[in-house]
Amino acid sequence: MTYDYDLFVIGGGSGGVRAGRVIAGLGKRVGIAEEYRYGGTCVIRGCVPKKLFVYASSFAEHFEDAKGFGWTVGETSFDWPTLIANKDREIERLEGLYRKGLDNANADIFNSRAVLEGPNEVRLLAEDRTVTAEKILIAVGGTPNRQPELPGHELCITSDEVFHIKQLPKSIVISGGGYVAVEFAGVFAGLGVETTIVYRGPEILRHFDMDLRQHLHQEMEKKGVRIICNETFEKVEKGDGRLIVTLSGGEVLSADQVMLAIGRLPLTGELGLEKAGVELDWSGHIVVDEYSKTSAENIWAVGDVSNRVPLTPVAIHESMCFIDTEFLGKPQMPDHDIIATAVFSHPEIGTVGVSEEEAIEKIGNLDIFKAVFRPMKHTLSGRDEKTMMKLIVDSQSNKVVGAHVLGPDAGEMAQLMAIPMKMGATKADFDRTMAVHPTAAEELVTMYQPSYRIVDGIRQD
Ligand code: NDP
Repeated sequence: MTYDYDLFVIGGGSGGVRAGRVIAGLGKRVGIAEEYRYGGTCVIRGCVPKKLFVYASSFAEHFEDAKGFGWTVGETSFDWPTLIANKDREIERLEGLYRKGLDNANADIFNSRAVLEGPNEVRLLAEDRTVTAEKILIAVGGTPNRQPELPGHELCITSDEVFHIKQLPKSIVISGGGYVAVEFAGVFAGLGVETTIVYRGPEILRHFDMDLRQHLHQEMEKKGVRIICNETFEKVEKGDGRLIVTLSGGEVLSADQVMLAIGRLPLTGELGLEKAGVELDWSGHIVVDEYSKTSAENIWAVGDVSNRVPLTPVAIHESMCFIDTEFLGKPQMPDHDIIATAVFSHPEIGTVGVSEEEAIEKIGNLDIFKAVFRPMKHTLSGRDEKTMMKLIVDSQSNKVVGAHVLGPDAGEMAQLMAIPMKMGATKADFDRTMAVHPTAAEELVTMYQPSYRIVDGIRQD
């Protein structure tokens, strides 16, 4: 049997484009279909434009901080349409680069929704035709949970719409306590918007280290964000020119915009998966084995559509392993252990490895090193903001199993800390590393005495 393609990729985001480009570059016949814009969530309406918004929202504090260094900053003003237009231009440029990479590698690029018609058949809806492929990679990602059961959910925006709102709102209420909620709360508060977060749990950022969560909570409140915990949205209604949000506890909030940031759902609906024998788990994600293979013999899935770690670099890594395994004859399982991550909140979080709570559960005997200090810049700026650094060390092996930073450039630090931690660095390795002075990061190699110890899961003060 001959097929039209050696590989057909459904989805033009980070995972799909990487596989399509590299495999086409090997001289294989590759087709790729994307129904929206090449670049996917990360580039088009996720990490990249978000980070640009984070930069935009940081300037007000920079202007204030400048005074302590002798600067007089004149009257400042902010223009939302300018930010949107400049952001759109940059995203268009990046989208072009994604397409160009595929084009240069001689992949066939389709602007179409693609659905499976069988194990080897893909229907291109915009072209009204079916193509065949020996192997198929599904990399369609996810979409924001729009909470259809919430009365008034249609009045709310999500991270899809937030990049295109015409006017900067004067006030916003955000539902959720994860990455998107805390990052956008920081963005809006930094731009002078009255911002409220409503989170269902006792503290924002579940799964992160509790010290980080509490510290971020305090710092965000200092910056004017109101954080309401242990509450959910009961309903959203149109009021007199504003939106009215009723909370589970009865409190009523009003705001110009209401945003849902309550997680993402895999885009597996109406994809023809059943026709090809691709199984889903309880949450609608595609079930894959350790090589990203689905329950169908010739179909693989990478990125957020499979139930693993929903982060861009992880999707790319899963694609690279798929390429190695299926096209280069070097079987490679994706490694999901010790993944550094950043939350671009104000202040930023950078974290690698396990939280103290997780380490207590998994290891039990720990040395905890913790420092909370005023960053050098704020000795003159006068800003009341503290940085926090924390190392979690397995007391038996001396290995650093968790490293957590909250403060400026924490994401950059997390990337670098991840290398020694992936190599199995011990606290002794950190201790014999010379400090770079004066930096904030030097604190990571100069915390000599544990702040406290955990013995058999019990904290010893
Ligand atoms: P997250 O999973 O990070 O957070 C979802 C939040 O919504 C949690 O606080 C969750 O509460 C809450 N929630 C879930 N369901 C409901 C509900 N029905 N009612 C009320 N609250 C609810 O998802 P995000 O949407 O913030 O982000 C999506 C994903 O995108 C992230 O998981 C991350 O992988 C990725 N991302 C990564 C970024 C980065 O790397 N910097 C930035 C932005 C996104 P609970 O904790 O109690 O479950």
